[in-house]
Amino acid sequence: MSNTESSKPTNFIHQVIEQDLEDGKNNGKVVTRFPPEPNGYLHIGHAKSICLNFGTAEKYNGECNLRFDDTNPTKEDQEYVDAIKQDVEWLGFKWAGEVRYASNYFDQFYEWAQHLVREGNAYVCDLSPEEAKEYRGWATEPGKDSPFRERSPEENLDLLERMRKGEFDEGSCVLRAKIDMASSNMNLRDPILYRIRKESHHQTGDKWCIYPSYDFAHGQEDAIEGVTHSICTLEFADHRPLYEWFIENLPVPSQPRQYEFGRLNLNYTVTSKRKLKQLVDENHVNGWDDPRMPTISGLRRRGYTPASVRNFCDSLAVAKTDGTVDMAQFEFFVREDLDKNAPRAMCVVQPLKVTITNYDEGQEEWFELPKHPKDETMGVRKVPFTRNILIEQDDFAEVPPRKWKRLTQGVAVRLRGSYVITCQEVIKDADGNVVELKCTYDPATAGANPEGYKAKGVVHWVSADNSVPCEVREYDRLFSEANPTGDKEKDFLEFINPESLVIRTDSRCEVGLVDAAVESAYQFERTGYFCVDSDSTADKLVFNRTAGLRDSWGK
Ligand code: ATP
Ligand code: MG
Repeated sequence: MSNTESSKPTNFIHQVIEQDLEDGKNNGKVVTRFPPEPNGYLHIGHAKSICLNFGTAEKYNGECNLRFDDTNPTKEDQEYVDAIKQDVEWLGFKWAGEVRYASNYFDQFYEWAQHLVREGNAYVCDLSPEEAKEYRGWATEPGKDSPFRERSPEENLDLLERMRKGEFDEGSCVLRAKIDMASSNMNLRDPILYRIRKESHHQTGDKWCIYPSYDFAHGQEDAIEGVTHSICTLEFADHRPLYEWFIENLPVPSQPRQYEFGRLNLNYTVTSKRKLKQLVDENHVNGWDDPRMPTISGLRRRGYTPASVRNFCDSLAVAKTDGTVDMAQFEFFVREDLDKNAPRAMCVVQPLKVTITNYDEGQEEWFELPKHPKDETMGVRKVPFTRNILIEQDDFAEVPPRKWKRLTQGVAVRLRGSYVITCQEVIKDADGNVVELKCTYDPATAGANPEGYKAKGVVHWVSADNSVPCEVREYDRLFSEANPTGDKEKDFLEFINPESLVIRTDSRCEVGLVDAAVESAYQFERTGYFCVDSDSTADKLVFNRTAGLRDSWGK
């Protein structure tokens, strides 16, 4: 399924680059950029783009810029800028030089807009948005020239300057490129270069009240920064002729080229900042970093590691079609990383009380267990054995199914790394629920097999007298439909899985974890992979279940 070796398959973008290097283009330099718009937190789709852009630069000894595409102040915010920087760093990438902003270049863009006007390549258009839409035509039907298209360069220069000075209302006019209203490519039908937006900007404050469009900004940003290969997703393929038109018609300092690759989608979730924002704003989840979110910060809080995200992204094809990938495929990489690197510990998630009737109250002895069965260098941990023990409710069955390898009345099992115990008596409450087991332990079974009988299996446990109370948050898929946005009749919110979060409040983990740091990861033996959540307090640790031990998505 996956390719985890460092020898990535050469994708079509790398092929282009290798050809360019061979042809001596760009003085042998490779410069890429990751250009997020700071209007939300990054998600797993962005991670693919980050890995591709930064990874490509690394592979060819080039550079990758982090540049905020901040041309639309209405939807942008400093909070998102900060979160995006943090996410890129967390993934382990370093951008070249300082963080860049499209807004760094607003003065230059304005000069270039004046240049287009002077050359007769741009004009101020007073059509209302509704009229402009009508004039634009349809994919199958050519548009009509705006009645303002033949304004003179002098008049246009004056109007543009007055737009900039704030003399006109929002929506009253725009600056448009003069290209071709009959083009079969809608993006070339006199696209908008500047809009009036009387809005403060998170970087430039109130300096501007006109803002460039994405199209008028993006290629020029690339050219200013000397980006050689501008990699974006497929929806921009139709914008490429416009990208090239600006590069040809402006005195830009370099000649970047745009290449498109397929977006990454994951099933059972959504990868659109707008929809993710809606989940946050309407409190369907607990913030952008809710561990059920496919955001980088959510994955991080869930316990995914930078290596697991990068290995996953590197395993994906860089293709010219969008692709949907199965969650199970992603989980494989986090399990692979944590199996190797997470120390083992025991945690009883849903406890059942076990009293060892032949073990004295107040007595305590410590067992030593390896932190990792295959990596001695991790060392050992110590767990106390006492009269009062907790095991998992699921590890006892009054009427066991066939081949039951856990506890039931009259049967012996080993408490992992400690003694063999035998269940002698089952105590129930008034409603018939099992509330306690009375067991005996066999003192000869520490590190030795029992004499004359067999232990049926091994279960995990903690001492009830000396363990750490914790809360365990178990996550399931956020949506119950593989493609929650695929139903035209229904809103994606209707497919939210009501059981996507189950909170266990009575869990207990082994005492050595008492000081575990936020984000540290463990494999709880027999249970799954977990990490310490930032909601942990001095009184109570909180663990997030990162993933089960085995693939559970297939079911
Ligand atoms: P969204 O649709 O979630 O808002 P976007 O494309 O508007 O995403 P940007 O901030 O503009 O988000 O994206 C920054 C970069 O990440 C762009 O180059 C974009 O092409 C890329 N990108 C965004 N989503 C994906 C995805 N699902 N798969 C791969 N790359 C993506
Ligand atoms: Mg975008």
